Amino acid sequence: MAGLCAAISALEKGANVLVVEKGTRFGGSMRLSNGLIWTFANQAQVRKDVPDGDEAMQDFLVDGLTDSLVWLVSQGVELEPEQTFQWYGRGRRSNPAQMTPVLVDRVKAVGGRILLGTAMQALRTEDGAVTGVLAFDANGALEVQADSVLLATGGFQGNTELVARYITPHADSMYLRSNPCSTGDGFIAAVDIGAAVTPLLNTFYGHALTAPPARFNAFEFQDMSQKYGPIAVALNLEGHRFADESAGTGEEQLNFFIASQPRATAVYIVDAAMAGMSSENNPPPRLAIARARKAGGPVIEADNLDDLSEKMHAWGLPPGEVLKSLQAYNAAVRSESGDRLQPARRRNAFPIEKAPFTAVLVRSSITYTCGGLRADLDMRVLRRASSISMLPMVTADLSEIQTAAIPNLYVAGCDLGGISNRGYMGGLSHALVTGRAAGTAAASGG
Ligand SMILES: Cc1cc2nc3c(=O)[nH]c(=O)nc-3n(C[C@H](O)[C@H](O)[C@H](O)COP(=O)(O)OP(=O)(O)OC[C@H]3O[C@@H](n4cnc5c(N)ncnc54)[C@H](O)[C@@H]3O)c2cc1C
Repeated sequence: MAGLCAAISALEKGANVLVVEKGTRFGGSMRLSNGLIWTFANQAQVRKDVPDGDEAMQDFLVDGLTDSLVWLVSQGVELEPEQTFQWYGRGRRSNPAQMTPVLVDRVKAVGGRILLGTAMQALRTEDGAVTGVLAFDANGALEVQADSVLLATGGFQGNTELVARYITPHADSMYLRSNPCSTGDGFIAAVDIGAAVTPLLNTFYGHALTAPPARFNAFEFQDMSQKYGPIAVALNLEGHRFADESAGTGEEQLNFFIASQPRATAVYIVDAAMAGMSSENNPPPRLAIARARKAGGPVIEADNLDDLSEKMHAWGLPPGEVLKSLQAYNAAVRSESGDRLQPARRRNAFPIEKAPFTAVLVRSSITYTCGGLRADLDMRVLRRASSISMLPMVTADLSEIQTAAIPNLYVAGCDLGGISNRGYMGGLSHALVTGRAAGTAAASGG
């Protein structure tokens, strides 16, 4: 998404553009997505719900979306009318199957070239300025010289080593809920030549998916996502609640917490009443549960909590602990004061009391990493050695503040960090707005 939008924007400014695409198909994660191009409706809501991001970058996204959607339509992409998204967002829905070929054709129509099956591995530099890339295709190495290089490789979620280093020791148990090519190549290449990175490299966006032995393909990620977590009770493999299931604006926060639990695994438990509830624009849990079951995912049903706990033994949970946790949860949410619930729960504290009871084994997944390369608002990648720290608690005199970019290096989309830290502002909008800005700036050089 970011790469194609950047390429078209640079071509519109008169640049010669070569796109190298590692995959054997076009469109990356954009092609797998649900197509809703949305972000927060206003900055005040962003400050409240995504308080740890780079405020200037977040505002750039909120301010830039409307214009970018008009631009997208002008390229031939079909968008539904604007809609509100939950209580905080707005956007327009695209059809990724239509959008992908339209953007690819547009790159070619305005004079760009695209090489499929060709991966960027390293940046070439001279006197600290970027002069091109080393790429590889099926025939071997390819040296490409360029006045500007723009990184849009989609994040580092596909790189187990980086995920283990920054996100969770249970990296090997995580599902990858994205295209398989985003293995941190842009991040690594830029850091190798001295790029600065954003804080909170541990943050990421994703949804819990039905656990193995479920079988599904990449176009079924959406159907396998168990987005009703915020109304369920979530237990880890030790049989304990470990987080506020309702934290954040959707299920992505709970998915983030599951990543740190043993085997990055949890159980979502709902009773008959919860199974029929719609939440946050999502259909009732029973539909997602039926899809999980159909795919061969682990689902248990029982008429009472004792039986449900006993049956969970088959998944390795200790039945005594499970029962104790569910009884303590019920007692706390029924109590007048509600203050005995540990961990506390901000929303949806429904008792689990109406049979049948259903338990679904889920695993955490990563759609994209939210930490990444640090850039200015022209999407120029900053040089670590010439920029001061961006940690939130930094104390610096005005005279000490300095940032400087690596000449000729730009970034867009999920390779750019700092927007959706501990929250989610939309992935397609982020790629669209930053892609256009980066492509425009890269065409002017410097
Ligand atoms: C199931 C699913 C549903 C989603 N639904 C939504 C939604 O409704 N709304 C929303 O806002 N977001 C959604 N997203 C997220 C959204 O798709 C991503 O945030 C967005 O596509 C990111 O754009 P990008 O350009 O950074 O990465 P991508 O679109 O993934 O593009 C990155 C590209 O870089 C290529 N690449 C990687 N490494 C190299 C290399 N070394 N050299 C050359 N090329 C390389 C990849 O092959 C890929 O084509 C969804 C994602 C998934 C998986």
